[in-house]
Amino acid sequence: MKLIISILALYMVGAHAVVQEQMFKGTAKLVEVLIPNELLSQKTLKFSCRRGSKEAKTYPYITKENRLFALIAETYYSEFETISCHINETKVAEILVLDKAYPITYLRVPSEQTSPSPETQARIEREQTLLGKVYATSSSTLLYDKPFVVPLDSVVTSPYGVKRIYNNGELAGYHSGIDYRAATGTSLYSANSGKVILAQDLFVTGNTVIIDHGKRLFTIYAHMSKISVTVGQIVKQKQLIGLAGATGRVTGPHLHWGVRLHSTLVDGNTIVSETETFFDRF
Ligand SMILES: [Zn+2]
Repeated sequence: MKLIISILALYMVGAHAVVQEQMFKGTAKLVEVLIPNELLSQKTLKFSCRRGSKEAKTYPYITKENRLFALIAETYYSEFETISCHINETKVAEILVLDKAYPITYLRVPSEQTSPSPETQARIEREQTLLGKVYATSSSTLLYDKPFVVPLDSVVTSPYGVKRIYNNGELAGYHSGIDYRAATGTSLYSANSGKVILAQDLFVTGNTVIIDHGKRLFTIYAHMSKISVTVGQIVKQKQLIGLAGATGRVTGPHLHWGVRLHSTLVDGNTIVSETETFFDRF
């Protein structure tokens, strides 16, 4: 009996609470965990999450006393594995990824946009390379101090995640942002404070503004008729960044709002709700 008790005690000393969470594919999720006592004195901690047998991804985080907060993202094409997160080598969280049924829509756009000419294809590729460079840098500190808000108080005409089929052709991927009804000339505002890292015309998204909010969280505003900010500019939450329009690959004027967390385009509504939770608890 005495032996059993000592074995149990040893086990408890080495055990940590493993936080259990759930998230849907295509969303952002706030993970809050306790930093294991033995790691509290360490200067730098590594927070990483592993999906199945894939290589673990390291995520930026914020700490307050013995708590660690991180926003993680799961792709639209998730394979629904359980994500296990670690601080250094100690497992601290387990997140179950759930499926979500997204609807299908059929879109009609000019054939030049679905079967681009070689010149257009070259332009699209140049712009993808540019975007890769733009997204490669993000502030190492948070550039916002309050929850995100949606950029426009208007009807959502196409939510995140809708499967899209162009001109009766095959599936052309999914809708990676949220579309809001907006007549040309409607004022558009930043969803949070941050730094403008792109402000120019692109083939697919037309006049586009991308804002870095720090720690690899970005918001994207597309199809604008006018851009009112410049690259490098620091913007506040709800600052005017431009006017809605119908530039780029569109069927009519609207605002397409995208949210990119790490390298994943997620449902913007989840960055609003998860940052509300973060500022409640932090
Ligand atoms: Zn859109």
